[in-house]
Amino acid sequence: MPGDGHRQSQIRRTPNPGMADEPIDPSEIGEGDAPPVDEAPYKVIFEANKCIAAGKCAEVSANWTMDITTGIAKPDVYFFDEPDLEHNIDAAEACPAKKDRGVIHVVDRRTNEEIAPDPDGDGTLSVEW
Ligand code: SF4
Repeated sequence: MPGDGHRQSQIRRTPNPGMADEPIDPSEIGEGDAPPVDEAPYKVIFEANKCIAAGKCAEVSANWTMDITTGIAKPDVYFFDEPDLEHNIDAAEACPAKKDRGVIHVVDRRTNEEIAPDPDGDGTLSVEW
């Protein structure tokens, strides 16, 4: 499946058999090689397997490009500081995948809340693994 290897290299899946409605803790995802929170207080969590290759993210954010090998989007960095926050939020909000709920998630590592797209409006991580 395109993008699956990429996704697996970035995140560690939380095993939750039979607990699909359990909220996923953002702090458990992708923190293995992460820079310190005070250096990079934000991160993106990317549902690569649900990217529909619409390319909107790459139009609005320098952090996102279309990978010609996999055919889907790819972030240059997963962890970043304030200067890169706005355009990553733009990418998250522009993403039309999952019926506009989006597959790019910008998370504040200090509060563990999803800043964007936050379709539920409560800061919970809106991934659907
Ligand atoms: S906007 Fe969303 S669906 Fe489109 S390429 Fe970017 S991540 Fe994939």
